[in-house]
Amino acid sequence: MTTSPQNHHCPICKSSHIDTWGSAADIGNADIIHKIAKCNECTHIFVHPLPSKEFLAEAYKTSSKSVLSGDSFYDFRSKGSFSEGDLWVLKHLKKRVKQGNLIDIGAANTMLLSMIIESGWKVSIVEPSQNVERMSSLSNIQICRGLFEDCVFQNNFEMVSAIDVLEHTHSPIDFLKKAKSILSFRGNALLRFPNSYSLKCKLEHDKWNMIRPLGHLHFFSPRSFQAACKTCQLKIVELKSHDLNNYLSLSIAGQNIRGMRFMLPLRWFLNKMLLGDQLLAMVSHE
Ligand SMILES: [Zn+2]
Repeated sequence: MTTSPQNHHCPICKSSHIDTWGSAADIGNADIIHKIAKCNECTHIFVHPLPSKEFLAEAYKTSSKSVLSGDSFYDFRSKGSFSEGDLWVLKHLKKRVKQGNLIDIGAANTMLLSMIIESGWKVSIVEPSQNVERMSSLSNIQICRGLFEDCVFQNNFEMVSAIDVLEHTHSPIDFLKKAKSILSFRGNALLRFPNSYSLKCKLEHDKWNMIRPLGHLHFFSPRSFQAACKTCQLKIVELKSHDLNNYLSLSIAGQNIRGMRFMLPLRWFLNKMLLGDQLLAMVSHE
């Protein structure tokens, strides 16, 4: 892996103005170090070189430790509790006057999906890993086991949810284009992904706990997400940030300060300035 990032292009805006930003160990094998690059145009941060789509399809299918190990997202969701991303999806579903087709991409929460089905939505899910087996207990659900980009759908969807998924994809642009292609005219896609504009990323750089190749490959900022949506001709209806797992955890001078009450105004401010750990984005057709 001696390729210099300067010789390549940003996967979001195609600019060739990219530099090495940092490095991080493979989550499945600490001896493998991956380079992380940053685009000087759109500020996107990404693992460089990116693994191929075929490599990722096989890695997720076989639950390779390079893509799943150490990824608290899966542990968190298997506990059957709601993440802030899940609650955000529920909030938006409640706002819609009519139920329709919903597709949840990624290892979804069975409890959340049961609730959505009970409220009258027709649910489909996409998941490449064995986590999909957890979903077999749900009735009236369409399952595509594989990468979202490879799945074929018979109908359009009023709601597409992809909570903690975009950062795992080979090409977020292909992912967003596919999402747009199955989105109904008045539909919305709800996405959550790590925020490289966050205070934590600024402070901790490549030690930020979201930097975990090859599980996480892409680290969007609000600016690089806007660039991606522009390329895909998607409109951003809502963009906000929040702190992962609903607490603020900052390592300042080696001290870990967690969600104490006096931190609440600071957390509110950070989210207002889009400096929270995660971005929540709702997009629609232009
Ligand atoms: Zn770029």
